[in-house]
Amino acid sequence: MKTLITISIFLIFSQIYAAEYSPVPDSVYIGKHPEAAVPFDLTTLKSLWEKRILAIKKDGQLPVIDIESSFDSGKINAKNYAKSMDNNQIALTAFSPQVGMEKYKDNGTLWHDGARRAVGADPSRYIPTSTSGIYPVFTKDPSAFVQETISRVEKENYPIMGEFEFRHYMSPRQYKRGETYRDVAVSLDSDAGHKLFRFSDRSGISFQIHYEIEDTLLAPLEKMLTKYPNAKVIWCHLAQVRYSSRAKNYGPNYVRHLIENYPNIYFDLAFGDAGSVYPGSREHHARVWNNPGHGVKQAWIDLITDHPYRFLAALDIGGDRMDHVSKNTKTLRAFIGNLPKETQDVVAYKAAWKLIFNEDISVR
Ligand SMILES: [Zn+2]
Repeated sequence: MKTLITISIFLIFSQIYAAEYSPVPDSVYIGKHPEAAVPFDLTTLKSLWEKRILAIKKDGQLPVIDIESSFDSGKINAKNYAKSMDNNQIALTAFSPQVGMEKYKDNGTLWHDGARRAVGADPSRYIPTSTSGIYPVFTKDPSAFVQETISRVEKENYPIMGEFEFRHYMSPRQYKRGETYRDVAVSLDSDAGHKLFRFSDRSGISFQIHYEIEDTLLAPLEKMLTKYPNAKVIWCHLAQVRYSSRAKNYGPNYVRHLIENYPNIYFDLAFGDAGSVYPGSREHHARVWNNPGHGVKQAWIDLITDHPYRFLAALDIGGDRMDHVSKNTKTLRAFIGNLPKETQDVVAYKAAWKLIFNEDISVR
């Protein structure tokens, strides 16, 4: 009888966890929701986030912190997005808002309050993240945008900064749409780059770079990492090589060299599946995979297993692919599933937690 009661209680609780990792917010477009107060209260948010991660674990699932996604807050419904996160056991998302061309043109603004609105609508799921460093806000005047970012991050207490596009080819979608303005080159060692690295070096707040893999871009990166050893840099899209002819020196050995020589370089794991082809070169650009259906190259598995805290799960949701949570989670989990069990936990959420809070997460 006692055993039966215990089993029943266990079942009831596991169903509660499974059904509701955190309250699902009302149906509202995030862009219309009132802003959360700033400076952000990271102590309160941290305890909500811990609870949510724990609930997903208790449900027997591997929670994921999505360290890199961006969005148009006017088009995203808080309730629907929360449900798609729950269905895929995405615990948290560092969702960075985008300033659209129209808003930029109308009043020259370099900033978007979307992260405040996201946290206001759903504090259990959103890590407040600074505005995306993409076209036009970053590309048109990189220094001015970095300056604005630094002042907001300091004033409003953002724990992480969004992705800055220093070298960016058109994505497969942009390529097909002919959006050549998304072919971007801003030197990493420009005034804007120095400002950003210097701020991160001083504050310990991490930032993300989109930096296509080209041999000629590796030396400037190493120069900046040497000059600013405490800057926390997340190089997005591990091993996403779009033109192999331009990237002869890059591979797991080179990434190992970076990790073993520079204490604060990290990599996110947002890349295409094994079948994904870059239209500009017609090459399979996600180089971590063996041929489709044949898993991950062993050298990448070995590297990540040796240095798991340098690798971060990410979905890379964007304004033109906000409905890709399930698809991108499937690719991400297919990759993570090749790693040893303990490494999976680190890469899925422990590494992100440590990066943001400088301490280990207390859930086991
Ligand atoms: Zn990117």
